[in-house]
Parts: sequence; structure tokens; C-alpha cells
Amino acid sequence: MFTSLLYHGFGVHGYDYINSKFNGGVVMFTLRPKAFELQCSSCQSRKIIRCGKVDRKFRSLPIGRKPVWLSLAVQRVECLVCGLVRQVKIGFANPRRSYTKSFERYALELSKHMTIQVYSTPSRCQLGCHQRHPETLSPKALCPSKAEKTERDSH
Ligand SMILES: [Zn+2]
Repeated sequence: MFTSLLYHGFGVHGYDYINSKFNGGVVMFTLRPKAFELQCSSCQSRKIIRCGKVDRKFRSLPIGRKPVWLSLAVQRVECLVCGLVRQVKIGFANPRRSYTKSFERYALELSKHMTIQVYSTPSRCQLGCHQRHPETLSPKALCPSKAEKTERDSH
């Protein structure tokens, strides 16, 4: 049942629910990928060698005002075709991001109605990610009307 909630509620599929922890007002769900054939994230070749796992955490949609994180061990593989050693693709998050695609859509949707300061405080959203990835969460992308107003005021 919880796997269904992961899919319909958090946009996560292809993973099994392992357990949940509640600590300091934060909800942490531990996930495990369902059995599937691993492949290179660059060339999609299935000629790979497993090279350990990396524990990663992803910010997901909040439950009420409680922040939710997804924790999983991401498999690293060495590709015998292209020679790269990389983590396998994660369906619910873009490469090199520490938040889910659904969380990104949620943050962008909120930004249409309020500033970063307003919505980051109640949901304990650490939007430091916009500093590392300005192309996805730049102030202009988050709040276009406010960015235009600021540009006009500065002239
Ligand atoms: Zn490859």
C-alpha cells in the first residue's frame, strides 16, 4: 500500500518502501529500488559492472508542514562500453539534484504566489539549491513579475 502512496502522492515509482523515521520534525522514508536490470546512465548499455552504492537523500513534497526526505542507496556502475563510472539514473530526480521532480514543481508553483522567503520558512525548505542550480530555481524563474519589477526599479 505504501508503494502506491509513493507513486500517487510523491511521484516516486520503481522503488519499494523500507521504513520511515521521524526525527526533529522531519520525515525520512527509506526506499530500495525494485529489481530491474541496471544500465549505464550515459549510453544505456547493460554491459556494466557494479561499483558499490552511494547513500543519497532527496527532498520531496512535505506532509503538512513537515519536510519529507527520501533516502536510498544509489547503485554505481562501470560501463564496459563507454568506460564511465556513474550512478544509475533515478527516475524521480534529475541528475545532480538533491530534490525530486515533484518537489521542484511544487516549489515553482508556490513561487507564483509568494516570495522565496515566505514559502521557504514554513516548509523548512532549504532553497540553497537555487544558488547551485540557478537555471532551474533562479529568482526570475521563481517569481517573474517580482524580478521584472526589480529590474525596472533599478533603472
Ligand atoms: Zn556507457
